[in-house]
Amino acid sequence: MKRIEKILIANRGEISCRVISTCKALGIRTVSIYNKGEEDLPHVTSADEAVLLGDGSLLETYLNQDLLLEIAKNHNTCAIHPGYGLLSENASFARRVTSEGIIFIGPSPESIILMGDKIQSKIAMEKLGIPLVPGFHGKNQDETSLVEEAKKIGYPLLIKATAGGGGKGMRIVNSDLEFTDALASAKREAMNAFGNDQVLLEKYITSPRHIEIQVFSDSMGSHVHLYERECSIQRRYQKIVEESPSLALNQKLRREMTDVAVKISSSINYLGAGTIEFMLDKDSNFYFLEMNTRLQVEHPVTELVTGQDLVEWQIRVAEGNSLPLKQEEIKQNGHAVEVRIYAEDPDNDFLPAIGKLNYIGKSTISGVRCDIGYVDGNEVSVNFDPMCAKLIAHGSNRENAISKLRAGLNEFPFFGVTTNRNYLQRILKSKSFLKGDTFTHFVESKKEELSPLKMDDQYMADLIAFNLLNKQSVETINERPSIKSPWDTLSGLRTT
Ligand code: ADP
Repeated sequence: MKRIEKILIANRGEISCRVISTCKALGIRTVSIYNKGEEDLPHVTSADEAVLLGDGSLLETYLNQDLLLEIAKNHNTCAIHPGYGLLSENASFARRVTSEGIIFIGPSPESIILMGDKIQSKIAMEKLGIPLVPGFHGKNQDETSLVEEAKKIGYPLLIKATAGGGGKGMRIVNSDLEFTDALASAKREAMNAFGNDQVLLEKYITSPRHIEIQVFSDSMGSHVHLYERECSIQRRYQKIVEESPSLALNQKLRREMTDVAVKISSSINYLGAGTIEFMLDKDSNFYFLEMNTRLQVEHPVTELVTGQDLVEWQIRVAEGNSLPLKQEEIKQNGHAVEVRIYAEDPDNDFLPAIGKLNYIGKSTISGVRCDIGYVDGNEVSVNFDPMCAKLIAHGSNRENAISKLRAGLNEFPFFGVTTNRNYLQRILKSKSFLKGDTFTHFVESKKEELSPLKMDDQYMADLIAFNLLNKQSVETINERPSIKSPWDTLSGLRTT
């Protein structure tokens, strides 16, 4: 057992802030990293120490393993928390960290390798008898045999990059005629994104739900789950709204899916936090998709429903302690819903947005949590993921959580940078969402309903309130860069 006293957080933005907040509560010192121009970001200012990486490319900075290891050693950190994305699922990094005598807050490199490869993980799951989406995950990548396999599976089907993530290298194919072109473009995208163009084929499940199970393991061989999250509301295979529990699971199905998840984590001798993702079809059949060997973006919904701090759990098990709770002590309480706030313009084909965040609202509603990597005055650049914050509400039931989240979002404008906030409000107001009629094509199938109103009343209300409060010139609080003066858009509100 080794007590962790100082952690290097090999990440940035909201997840670094998230880790810092738990470390502060536990009395653990933190070292943050940053690039030139990021000096004022809260992940830099709120850490005990912060180290400038430089101003080079991602590979020269946040992904520079040599540099990160040197910083860890120079600053006497006994552990590295990788957050999510960046190096969090990089087995060679995990191995190098460990071989320097530093604790990698995550699973073993072997688990990362096994689960990072969609073919290898499927082969392992098949051996365990875990239900898989029917398809082809063989080694033969020859185009003619892939066409033959596709015929056997039947259309529609999905071509997926073996090394894939974030929906990259994924193509839906509806017929024989489309297969060759789709294969070439999936391979091209996979090669660019992952340096590996191997693919697998899967039967395309119509209107599935995305259900995932949070698992946790310690080094003594105990494995538990912290129930499910439903992440069916996605855009281009990227989750935007997540919740727990899922309305689609009754106690029997919940038991079956969590049993399978724990069977998987125990079978691979897992350590730390992991997420097992499944597709759930209309007939309540579920299929293993993949395991993510890190903390997920959407972990807060699980934290709010179970009342646990998953970063603290990660640190405790990385120190060699046993899991903080036994399975029967972990309970689901109420309902939590999370939305991801992106710097993008949904009314303009989701074009990424940049700019200076003049003012970010603060939610005052009890039960609403905000995980954010910015403060007023920070710049949002195009160099990193456009997700600037997550807003998460916990309520006694789903209706209550959604209503709190909507109220929380209203109090949470981002003046200076266009965000998807109003789009998220439209999802949360949608009748189908309120009914729990959620599936992975929700957003596409409700295009009309989710399209912008001619003028967004809430935006104007926020703008006026902010202006009155701050007595500032309206020109300085332009949330939408395309509008020169917000008053230009007021004609619809004027009575004369
Ligand atoms: P990635 O690793 O790129 O995120 P996943 O395999 O986790 O890819 O799948 C991401 C999303 O793609 C799922 O949440 C779901 O919306 C969709 N998807 C994946 N596999 C299938 C399938 N066989 N049928 C229908 N949709 C699928």
